[in-house]
Amino acid sequence: MFSTIFQATGFKRALNLCKQGKHEEAEALMKSLQDEFFAICEENEALKLQISEVADVLDLADRVQFDGQKYWLIDENDKKGPFCQVCYDRDGLLVHLQEHENHWECQSCRGLYMIPRDKKDAQVSLKLPIKTTLKKTIPLFLEREMG
Ligand SMILES: [Zn+2]
Repeated sequence: MFSTIFQATGFKRALNLCKQGKHEEAEALMKSLQDEFFAICEENEALKLQISEVADVLDLADRVQFDGQKYWLIDENDKKGPFCQVCYDRDGLLVHLQEHENHWECQSCRGLYMIPRDKKDAQVSLKLPIKTTLKKTIPLFLEREMG
């Protein structure tokens, strides 16, 4: 890592230069070390910001629910939406669907979602029966028939 090199070599070199009485060289080195330090601080801040953005996305992902067709945003006591499935899956954006008489329309990708007439149609069950397959045991040592 860069920071390890920074600590292991830079400071030691500066110290050695001081010990050798090469103060101007030591000063120049200290200045470049300071610049590196500031650059690392800046990078660190940027990474922190990135982490918090990722945490926000994960938090949002926790609250987004898929109904088999569209997404809904679930808050404590509130359900917002629906949102476009295509836009969220592709761009991570929650785009409100505009309601028409028989369908919802995404203003961004122009995707259409039929408004289910029957409640039964809206409840798409995604559960599949779990199949348990017995695995064949593989013998560790295969007995060979000597011919
Ligand atoms: Zn869309």
